[in-house]
Amino acid sequence: MMKALRLFGPRDLRLLEEPVPKPMPGQALLRVRAVTVCHSDIHYYKYARIGDTVSKTPLVLGHEFCGEVIETTPGVEGLYRGDLVAVEPAISCGRCRYCREGNPNLCEHLLFSGTPPLDGALREYMPYGAEFLFPLPAGFTPEEGALLEPLGVAIHGWDLAKLRIGESVAIVGCGPIGLLLIQLARIGGAAQIMAIEPLDYRRDLAVELGAIGLAPDDDLERRVLALTGGHGVDVAVEVAGTLPAQEEAVRVVKRGGTVVAIGIPPEDKLVMTHHVIRRKGLTIKLARRMKLTYPRAISVVQRGLVDLKPLVTHRFALDEADRAFRLVEQYADGVIKAVIYP
Ligand SMILES: [Zn+2]
Ligand SMILES: [Zn+2]
Repeated sequence: MMKALRLFGPRDLRLLEEPVPKPMPGQALLRVRAVTVCHSDIHYYKYARIGDTVSKTPLVLGHEFCGEVIETTPGVEGLYRGDLVAVEPAISCGRCRYCREGNPNLCEHLLFSGTPPLDGALREYMPYGAEFLFPLPAGFTPEEGALLEPLGVAIHGWDLAKLRIGESVAIVGCGPIGLLLIQLARIGGAAQIMAIEPLDYRRDLAVELGAIGLAPDDDLERRVLALTGGHGVDVAVEVAGTLPAQEEAVRVVKRGGTVVAIGIPPEDKLVMTHHVIRRKGLTIKLARRMKLTYPRAISVVQRGLVDLKPLVTHRFALDEADRAFRLVEQYADGVIKAVIYP
C-alpha cells in the first residue's frame, strides 16, 4: 500500500491509503522523491478547475516532480533501478498531426499529470511512460529534478521571445518562472533585464539575479522609457498570470515589439487595450506548456548556467501538503517554491 493525496473538491485534500499501481508495458514505476507546488495546482486546489477543465473524480495533484526508478517493464531501455529522473508531465501521443509537426505541447490527445483525468505526483508511487523520463546526471537533487519542469516552461517562453544579443527584455512577474527567465535572459545575451514585480521580496531576489527591479506603480511606463532611451523594451514576457500584468507588458514594450504571455489568469481572459497594441504593432505570442525542452534544461543546470537552488524556500511532508498549498496561495513567509516530499 502507499499514501496518496486526493483533491475531493475546493480546498478538500485527503490523504488515502491505496494499492501501489502496476506499471504497464513501456512504463517504469517511480518512487516520487520531490514535488514542487505550482500556481496551477493552487487553481485546482481553490476551484477544482482550470478554464473549462473540471476535476470530476478526486484527483491527485502535482506535475513538477522528480522520481526514482524502482522497476522497469520489458522493452524499456536506458533506465535502471535507482536512477533519479526528471519527468515531462505532458503525455503527447506522438502520432497526431500536431505532434508530427513538432508541437507535442499542442497534441490533440494531450494528457497532463495532475490535470483531469490523469493523476499527478502527490503520492508515493507512480507508473510513467519511459519516453517521458529523463535520467539526471550525478549531482542533481530531487528538488532540482522537480524544478526542471518550470525551467522547461521558462525555456519554451524564452524560445518564443526570440530576443537578439544586446536587446532589452522585461519580465513581468517574478515568481519561480520569472526568476528562471531572468537567468535565461542573462545567458541569452539580453543587455537590459527589467523585473516588474509588486512583492518586495521577489523583486529583491530578481535584483540579486541581475535584473533592474521595478514595482508596477503609476510611474512604471515612464521609468522603463527612461531606461531604454524613450522607446520601451524589445520584448516583454508576462508570467504573473494577472490581468494588470498583461497590460503592464503591453505598456513597457516598444513599437513593433513582442509580448509573450505565459501566465494563466484566474479570470481566464487576455485583456490588452486594443488601440495600444494596434498602434504599437505588437506581436503577441501565447506559450502553451513546453516542447522538448528537458535536455536543454538539464544541460544549463548541470553546467551551472542556471541555479535552481535559490528558488526553494520551504519544505513539507505529504501530510503537510495543505499548509504548503495555503502558503503558496497567500504568497506568505517569503515563499518562492514549496517542495513536498511524498
Ligand atoms: Zn507548473
Ligand atoms: Zn499528438
